[in-house]
Amino acid sequence: MKILAIGAHPDDLEILCGGTLAKYSQKGHKIFMAHLCNGNMGGKKISSKQLIKIRDKEAKESAGLIKAESLGPIAGDLDLYPTKEMRMKVVDIIRYAKPDIIITHSINDYMPDHIITGQIVFDSAFTSTLPLYKTKYPAYENIVPVYSMDTVAGIRFEPTIYVDITEVFEIKKKMFLCHKSQYKWLKGHHNSDPINLIESMGKFRGVQCGVEYAEAFKRVDVWGRIRPLDLNL
Ligand SMILES: [Zn+2]
Repeated sequence: MKILAIGAHPDDLEILCGGTLAKYSQKGHKIFMAHLCNGNMGGKKISSKQLIKIRDKEAKESAGLIKAESLGPIAGDLDLYPTKEMRMKVVDIIRYAKPDIIITHSINDYMPDHIITGQIVFDSAFTSTLPLYKTKYPAYENIVPVYSMDTVAGIRFEPTIYVDITEVFEIKKKMFLCHKSQYKWLKGHHNSDPINLIESMGKFRGVQCGVEYAEAFKRVDVWGRIRPLDLNL
């Protein structure tokens, strides 16, 4: 199987579905980790120009831990809008990866880049299948299921699918810790220790499904994308 996970910023996938991706990778599936925004607003003292380079390197390091291919970005932070240009770029990410499953943000998440990513990815997944919609890559004619990953802190998210990530929980944390530039920033600006967030969310979703640590998802159920399979491959 090929799994394409598309987050807004470098580090979102690690926080919200990194364990599931690590688990898939260990089972021999091919993983693509894409981020649509370049992370240029994720700091205070480091310039945006430097942040773009640093965060690209951090994203690649994290993806490397689970032998995933890192893709993106296509826009600056807070510069992502549901435009034709952005949709064409996301269509090309999907057409390049040819996934069997797509994972992205919930449109109930907490900030515009996450919400718009969820919407653009959903729209692009449909668009990517149309042969007459011309972009750099040829159409990917498979209509594949799209899954929303948890929102940050699980707010306004009712999961329908859980993945036990107990055995890969340390890898998930290591993946996040590749994003060194973000640890201090998130602690200061968001008033939240990201490792505490990862621990708490993992345990909370774990308690809900009877394991130590879990990640939660919800399939975007619309016509043509419902399949008799779930995320526990
Ligand atoms: Zn984010």
